Amino acid sequence: MNFSVTILGSGAALPTKNRMPSAQYVNCNNRHFLIDCAEGTQLQLRKYKINFQKISHVFISHLHGDHYFGLVGLLSTMNLLGREKELTIFGPSELEELINPMLQFGGSRLSFTVYFVRLNMTDEATIYEDEIVEVHSFPMDHKIPTCGFLIQEKPKLLKINPQKITEYDLKIEHFKALQNAQDIILETGEICKYQELTFPRQKALSYAYCSDTKKSLAISKNISGATVLYHEATFLIKDQKRANLTTHSTTKDAAEIAIDAKVQKLVVGHISSRYKTNEEHLKELKQIFSNSEVAEDGMCIDLTKV
Ligand SMILES: [Zn+2]
Repeated sequence: MNFSVTILGSGAALPTKNRMPSAQYVNCNNRHFLIDCAEGTQLQLRKYKINFQKISHVFISHLHGDHYFGLVGLLSTMNLLGREKELTIFGPSELEELINPMLQFGGSRLSFTVYFVRLNMTDEATIYEDEIVEVHSFPMDHKIPTCGFLIQEKPKLLKINPQKITEYDLKIEHFKALQNAQDIILETGEICKYQELTFPRQKALSYAYCSDTKKSLAISKNISGATVLYHEATFLIKDQKRANLTTHSTTKDAAEIAIDAKVQKLVVGHISSRYKTNEEHLKELKQIFSNSEVAEDGMCIDLTKV
């Protein structure tokens, strides 16, 4: 099984030579998701060799341009390359009104169906679910309505220990029961505890995306225990006033959320272009939450190795 995140844009507000604005590609057990789609996202997908026709779902956190200005270009290119597979785009209610006229005025007729799904911007919601993966949205605290996202594996089936079952004549229903943590009754009437015949359950992994927002302890319950938290840290501590004014977070804010939510690893992004290196961000983060990193464009986070 695989679960990885490729950072396509780690910068705030505007594209620079070092950082493009927000976008991320998530491959969760071969579900292909795009979170945010800033200007230049399609070029970043090409640069990092991601087949963007595989993307089936796009999640747009809010309607600041540095989180969705790349969407029309991406849709247009998908169309030019003959996409037929449908695409579902989750976003604030106005997103469809913004995107469709831009395509229609240019006379474009997409060769594939796009479904726009309105996010609930005020309450937690399950927005995607299949047999292996779930995606939840939840409100952030930003200047305009904004959602965070949690991509989560469902609890995994137990793996049967082949050495422990050799002495039993098990049927298919016994295997299914064991995988689902149920004890089994053999034809002899003997009861076998599932713990004795299976390996301990592997932890279900989860990825939380929280950008943009000011520090909000209210989100901790939504991202509790996440394997990796990506949280914005637009500013350093010395620029706290600027963070307050623009409803963004500092390194300290992000690290304190990581502690409060008991996540395993923190990666911060949405870095202001005023900072030329990552050093200060990293230093401030590690003083509060040691398992921290600063995102870079092209960084790939493998959640199975955290
Ligand atoms: Zn914003």
